[in-house]
Amino acid sequence: MGNQDERTKAEVPTNVSYLPRFGLDEGPVTEVHAFWLAGLSCDGCSIAAVGAQSPTVEQLITGSIPGLPKVILHHPVLSVTAGHKFMEAYHEAKNGTLGAPYVVIQEGSVADENIAEEFGGYWSAMGVTIGDDGVHTPIPTAHWLRDLAPGAAAVIAVGTCATWGGVPAAAGNLTNAMSVMDYLGKEYLSTLGLPPVNIPGCAPLGDNITETVASILMFLAGVGPLPEFDELGRPAWMFQSTVHRGCVRAGNYEEGKFADEYGQKECLVELGCWGPVVQCNMVSRGAIGHNGGCMNTGGICIGCTMPGFPDAFAPFYKAPPGTMVSSNISRSTGSFVSYLRKFTQDNQNLTSHWKKTNEVPSGWANVDGRRGLGKKTVNFFYEKLKRSGTQFTPGSKRQQELQESASRYLNKSTANNKIAAE
Ligand code: SF4
Repeated sequence: MGNQDERTKAEVPTNVSYLPRFGLDEGPVTEVHAFWLAGLSCDGCSIAAVGAQSPTVEQLITGSIPGLPKVILHHPVLSVTAGHKFMEAYHEAKNGTLGAPYVVIQEGSVADENIAEEFGGYWSAMGVTIGDDGVHTPIPTAHWLRDLAPGAAAVIAVGTCATWGGVPAAAGNLTNAMSVMDYLGKEYLSTLGLPPVNIPGCAPLGDNITETVASILMFLAGVGPLPEFDELGRPAWMFQSTVHRGCVRAGNYEEGKFADEYGQKECLVELGCWGPVVQCNMVSRGAIGHNGGCMNTGGICIGCTMPGFPDAFAPFYKAPPGTMVSSNISRSTGSFVSYLRKFTQDNQNLTSHWKKTNEVPSGWANVDGRRGLGKKTVNFFYEKLKRSGTQFTPGSKRQQELQESASRYLNKSTANNKIAAE
C-alpha cells in the first residue's frame, strides 16, 4: 500500500495547447458543457446545488439568464441519459472533438487510484473501457479529471472534499484521498489560465456553487470581468469574511453573553463554535433562499469550509482553546457595556410626552415610566453630549426659526403659483 503522506500527482498531459480547443474568436459563446465528476463524495454537493435559488440550476441549464451561455449539464445522477450514451460527451471532450467549451465540476475528493490498482480494483469510477477481449474496465473518476482538466475553461472543485480533501482525507484514511489542487498540482492552469477554483463547504451553499459558475460563465461569454478569487482560489466575495462577522449572535458575543446549553439565543462559542476564525458566508446568506444556516438555527460552526477540516477542528462540540481568552475578555468588558446600553435603551423607549407625565399608558403590561433624579441627571448630560457640535435640539428657538422661515417660503411660492395659474 502506498505511503499516505506521499501525495500522488496526476500526470496532466503537457501536449495540450494552452489556448482553448474551442475558438473564442468564432463568435459569442452560446453553450458551455459542464462535466460533473463525483470522486469520494456523499453527493451532498449535488443536493446543495439543486437547492440553489440565486441563480437556480434550472436557470443555468435553460439559458434563461440574459447574457449567460446555456449550460449543458452532464451529471451522473441528474442527467436523463445513462450508460454508454451518457458517457459519449465525456469521451468527446477528452478526445478534443466536443466542439464547444466546457468546465469540469468535481465533487468529492480524489482517491489515489494507484493504491486500489495494486489490488486490481478502483475507489471511484465512471464509464468503462472495453478491451479487445470484451472485458469492461471501469475508468476511475480521477483519470477523468486528469484527462478533462487540460482542455477545460475552468476546473471548479465544489465541497470541502474536492477543495481540500475533507472527511475522506482525514487522519487514518486508507485511500490517500486528496483535493483537486493536490491532484492537479501547482502548475495546472485551465484554458482560461485559471488554477482550480475552490468552493468549500460540507456541503457548500448551493447558491455559492451556482453563483460562482454563473460568474465564470459571464467572463467566458465576455459580458463580465474575471471574478476575484483569494489566495486559495475561493471566490473572495464569499469567503473573505469570518462566519462570526455575519453571525446573528455576534452582538451577544460582544456583550459577553454566552449560551451554556443548546436552544439558548446567546453566542455559542463556549459550546464549541469556531465561527470567529472560520471563513464562510453561511449565516449571512442562509442555507436555502436566505433561510437556515448553522448559527441561525442554533448549531455551532465546526469549520467545515476550512482546509484543516475535520482534524483541525476535532473534537467537535468542545470550546476552542482561544475561547478562554476571548470570551472572558468579552464577558468582563461586555457586561459593563451591556449595562450602559440597557440604561440608554430604557430612556429611548419613552416618548417625550411620557417623560413629562412619568407614565406609560400601555395596556400590555405595567411599564414604569418614572425616572428618578439620578436617571434624569444622567440623561440630561447624555442628551447634551449627543447634540454637542450640532445645532439640533428638538423644540429649540433655532428650530422654530427654521420652521417659520420654511413656512414663509412655502406660503409665498404657493401664492406665486396661484397668480401664475390665473
Ligand atoms: Fe461568533 Fe459562533 Fe458566537 Fe456566532 S455563535 S457570535 S459565529 S462565536
